Amino acid sequence: MDIISVENLEKSFDGLGVLKGISFTLQKGEVLSIIGPSGSGKSTMLRCINQLEPIDGGSISVCGDTMVTTDAQGKVVYANKEILKAVRLHCGMVFQNFNLFPHMNVLHNITEAQIFVLKKTKEEAEANARLLLKKMGLEDKENAYPCQLSGGQQQRVSIARALALKPEVLCFDEPTSALDPELTGEILNVIKALAQEKMTMIVVTHEMTFARDISDRVIFMDDGQIVEEGNPNELFNNPQNPRTKKFLNRFE
Ligand code: ADP
Ligand code: MG
Repeated sequence: MDIISVENLEKSFDGLGVLKGISFTLQKGEVLSIIGPSGSGKSTMLRCINQLEPIDGGSISVCGDTMVTTDAQGKVVYANKEILKAVRLHCGMVFQNFNLFPHMNVLHNITEAQIFVLKKTKEEAEANARLLLKKMGLEDKENAYPCQLSGGQQQRVSIARALALKPEVLCFDEPTSALDPELTGEILNVIKALAQEKMTMIVVTHEMTFARDISDRVIFMDDGQIVEEGNPNELFNNPQNPRTKKFLNRFE
């Protein structure tokens, strides 16, 4: 089954097309990396899937539910509240700048949505949070506040927070871009471990070696379009489109 299916997705800001007919699917257990220059629409695409931006055309389905589609008259139609909520729970999102709640300690950051959205008891939510913190190597940080943690630690908390809702797919938007190079590796290793566990993931990244190592498939976006898509060896070693070649040359 497709975990995510995007068809002809369109999005404009102030009349300017930012996504110009994006189509792709993501299978269960697959790791898809999205690369492309700044401003090409990568974040907007993830934000549309995660219901953080309304779309202007096309359709998005998640785990078989149509989240949004466009009718014959060109009108965008979103699914009902229950389906939108289910879809939101299926998709976890990890942001470049962590987006932790600054006034909550680490444990509370991870339990909040479990309690209020999944209706878990505080005890269940905390037990689950502690398991995830252990997995992230942060078992001694549950009482710390985000400002007391390094960027890498904050990002690991935000990954734990996303995993706490047991998403079907995890979307990462440049998860290491706000980190010093020495902290980047610790986050890339966490994502690698999740890939080995067959977590379905979309990773927007500028880490080309990492993308090549962990991805089943890579998409190169430029100017709101998917310019090229393929398995990492083909796309990185033998790019077909001149725009892909030009982009990859910058990283050599
Ligand atoms: P990327 O993540 O690939 O760098 P983005 O999706 O962030 O690209 O941005 C794509 C384009 O959309 C850019 O030109 C950006 O300036 C524009 N854009 C993104 N968000 C907004 C917004 N909220 N309002 C207006 N323009 C936006
Ligand atoms: Mg971006």
